[in-house]
Amino acid sequence: PEDIRVYEFAEKINHPISDVIKVLFNLGMMVTKNDFLGKDEIEILAEEFEVEVTTIDPTNAFNYEEEYVEAESEEHLEERPPVITIMGHVDHGKTSLLDAIRNARVAHGEAGGITQHIGAYTVEQRDKKITFIDTPGHAAFSAMRERGAQATDIVIIVVAADDGVKPQTIEAIKHAKASKAPIIVAVNKMDKEGANPDLVKGQMAEHEVSPIDWGGDVEFVPVSAKTGEGIDDLLDNILLTAEVMELTANPEAAAKAVVVESSVEKGRGPVGTVIVQNGTLSVGDNVVCGKAFGRVRSLINDQGQQIKVLGPSETAVVVGLNEVPAAGDIMIAMESDKEAREYAQKRAEYERQKELSASTKTSLDELTALI
Ligand code: GDP
Ligand code: MG
Repeated sequence: PEDIRVYEFAEKINHPISDVIKVLFNLGMMVTKNDFLGKDEIEILAEEFEVEVTTIDPTNAFNYEEEYVEAESEEHLEERPPVITIMGHVDHGKTSLLDAIRNARVAHGEAGGITQHIGAYTVEQRDKKITFIDTPGHAAFSAMRERGAQATDIVIIVVAADDGVKPQTIEAIKHAKASKAPIIVAVNKMDKEGANPDLVKGQMAEHEVSPIDWGGDVEFVPVSAKTGEGIDDLLDNILLTAEVMELTANPEAAAKAVVVESSVEKGRGPVGTVIVQNGTLSVGDNVVCGKAFGRVRSLINDQGQQIKVLGPSETAVVVGLNEVPAAGDIMIAMESDKEAREYAQKRAEYERQKELSASTKTSLDELTALI
């Protein structure tokens, strides 16, 4: 909703800009025609002018989606692997679990390949792929959701069996519920003396995460990142959940991917780890990615190998951008270098205006406070 400015809103509803400004002014809100409207303001205006407002996600500004990612006809859709985020309280074993899963499952045929941390990785279980986002939980998750990037299909909440539900567990539950992604609870540290999975179940149930064996709808899987116990079960549960979700994508479409991590690397310049959401990203593609753009010079997977193409739910580091993208930015392959550049510029201008508008509002607030 923050994507629309006062004058744009006025144009859309076919009323003079001054009318829109007047309504807000009468309610004590000072805006100019170039200001972006907040959610509340839009709601008020919608009511006042008797119009219906549909919310679009901010990454779709400039119609990236409409123009480049056309609705897929059913026949092109193919099953795609699930994308998983692990969240939970500090020290409950998120990193250990991600490492354990990776070490146990990273394609054995590729032994010798150097596994490197790139912010996401893909494992195989019963010949099916699962992609894990391997970057500090909540912050990245929030960053992505703020940008409207629904990058995660299933959320795993890790709770240490010897510690139970803690503040960040509750925060994780909130994030997961807000995203509407199904939850699987990994009850970790089962090897420890004092592990009490029933206590965890009871505490989670209090937060409306109810175990299946208690008549709820959430699977609780006992695991130990230390001994590897239960990892198999956890992966099987992910596959079962994914199956029910019927996750699909069209590998033939223009690529759309989401950035999960980014940095500047020596010799490579700005890079971003992406997970493909639809289509296939190929070396040589012209892409826009938030304010950044470029041509995909190389794709490096989590084994450190150069690959040529990246399909749905697969992950790799993209080299070839002109600047560092942000976590949550959507990367889209475009027809030409020119188009990619133009979209990036529009995006940059949009963000600049948004910042300006935010700072104008702040100073107005300060002014009011002074008066
Ligand atoms: P994070 O903060 O959630 O990423 O937690 P870490 O993975 O860093 O783990 C915190 C501590 O718990 C570390 O000392 C781990 O070795 C330990 N730990 C993690 N998982 C297990 C487990 O399954 N069993 C035992 N005994 N210790 C674990
Ligand atoms: Mg950690």
